[in-house]
This record gives sequence, C-alpha cells and structure tokens, in this order.
Amino acid sequence: LIELGAIVCVPNGGPKCEQCPVKEYCIAHAENLTAEIPVKKKAKARKIEERTVLIFKDGKQIAIRKRPAKGLLAGLYEFPNLEGKFSMAEVTEYSKKIGLMPVRIQELPEAKHIFSHIEWHMTGYEVTVDELEKTNEEGFL
Ligand code: SF4
Repeated sequence: LIELGAIVCVPNGGPKCEQCPVKEYCIAHAENLTAEIPVKKKAKARKIEERTVLIFKDGKQIAIRKRPAKGLLAGLYEFPNLEGKFSMAEVTEYSKKIGLMPVRIQELPEAKHIFSHIEWHMTGYEVTVDELEKTNEEGFL
C-alpha cells in the first residue's frame, strides 16, 4: 500500500489510475472524483504559549524537574519553567518565593519550540543561587 501511494496513486500531477492494480475497487475512480479526493483539511493554527524557562544553578548542581504523567511531554524531565513572559525582577521575586537566593541572573537568548498544535515562545534566565538545596519547591531535582 505504501508503494501504491508513492508510485501509482500519487497526489501531485494526478493518480495513474490506468496502471493501478486496485482500480476495480476504487470508488474515487468509479465516480470520477480522483481530482477532489482526498479533501485537504485546513491546518489548524497553533496555539502560542509564552514560557519562561529557568536554569537554576549553584556551584555544583542544576535543577530539573519531571513533567506530569499525562499531557504534553508526559513524564519527561525539563528545566523548571513558568507560564508567561517574566521579567528579571519577576524571576528574582519568584526565586525568593520558592526559597532560593539569587546571586546573579543572566537573560538567555529567546527560543521557540514547535509542537504539532502548540508553539512555545520561550524567554530564559540562568539564575545562579547560593544554594539549590534551600528550595522546597515540589518536584525540583
Ligand atoms: S484507481 Fe483509485 S487508488 Fe488507483 S490510482 Fe486511481 S485513484 Fe488511486
């Protein structure tokens, strides 16, 4: 079937129905609809999500966390990140809120990651803290 689709029932330039081994079963051919079928669906616009990715590190370690067991990238490890586009001041505030003391924060280049239905537009910060062990944020490793 893969070869049939690649060589005989080709979409661009029209299917080669006269050479087709399944012509007698083909409804599109019988009903003279080979130019209209398959109907191409309009691609759905991707949802754009702003995210702020945080690379928390101290002299020895970098924090990661595991994503939830269900949903996008289920069960995979990632750098901690927040929904929305955070400023440096907001990142400082968030760090303190979760028990970390930033010593230095450096903005990273923006990045984009495209999934089938979502686009992540990412802002990133490298946040050097005095001691990662101080955080009690659930899920940080
Ligand atoms: S007969 Fe049907 S399956 Fe065969 S090439 Fe034509 S459209 Fe494709």
